[in-house]
Amino acid sequence: MLLDGRKLANDRLLKLADKISAAAKKPAIHFVRIGNDPASEIYVNIKAAKARSVGIKSTTTVLASETTQDEAAQLISQLNHDKSVDAILIQLPLPKHIDTDTLINMIDPQKDVDGLTDINVGRLSRGQALYTPCTPKGILSLLSHYDIPLDGQNVIIIGRSRIVGKPLSYCFTNHNATVTLCHQKTVQLKEKVQSADVIVSATGRRDIINPKWIKDTSIVIDVGIHRTPQGICGDIDLSEEAHRLKAYTPVPGGVGPMTVCSLLENTFLAAQS
Ligand code: NAD
Repeated sequence: MLLDGRKLANDRLLKLADKISAAAKKPAIHFVRIGNDPASEIYVNIKAAKARSVGIKSTTTVLASETTQDEAAQLISQLNHDKSVDAILIQLPLPKHIDTDTLINMIDPQKDVDGLTDINVGRLSRGQALYTPCTPKGILSLLSHYDIPLDGQNVIIIGRSRIVGKPLSYCFTNHNATVTLCHQKTVQLKEKVQSADVIVSATGRRDIINPKWIKDTSIVIDVGIHRTPQGICGDIDLSEEAHRLKAYTPVPGGVGPMTVCSLLENTFLAAQS
């Protein structure tokens, strides 16, 4: 079964647009970009356009690559105090001289719709998230929509980033799954993949999982995004194997649209609080 993230995201965004048009207060998100990373520019433009399409006010500040930590901090502080801004998103990665942790932790947790501040990660770990980080939230929405239970399932997540793997491990644990969080130093990955009911790949590497390891009854969530001359593809090449799997996400059209949808849902929540 194909888990159609594009269709589900479109359906959810239509519902969100209805809620926003009925709400007294229109949500507003502010994007912060530092430097000229071309992928970051594309991602922010996509998110901003989607935001506007559902009635969310979207503004962006682009700071030069040589912006100092203090200058970036000043902007975040100003946005925290700006009552017309409900949500702040700092697009990662940041230039190397900027301390990402420090800057992210400056965001007012009520406006941290990416759920990345220490306070919001702590709340998520306790099962009391203010905002579930966008990619994990999108994955949970997708699994729930297709009635795929997590209770008691053996889940393997490959990749432990702050935006995907780690927060997803909290989400799945809170949903009573048994989670194995894998990374570069993990040994016997093949055996772990072979025994998993749900496999999430979020490594940005295409050579890690042999699709033949995956059992027929497994569900595969591919978070990876690779731009190749043939187009966009995920971490795992499922072209020969998808037909035999219980369920899988396509790339493109799986997790990506759900991530953007979740960001806008979180922005609506921020405006309501
Ligand atoms: P990252 O690039 O910060 O880190 C990669 C992770 O993969 C690390 O935790 C590392 O330990 C792990 N890893 C690398 N090599 C490994 C190996 N050989 N064995 C096991 N683990 C290994 O991760 P990220 O920012 O989460 O991005 C991962 C991928 O997901 C990228 O392709 C990115 O573009 C994509 N992404 C997609 C979405 C979406 O909405 N679809 C959202 C975020 C990221």
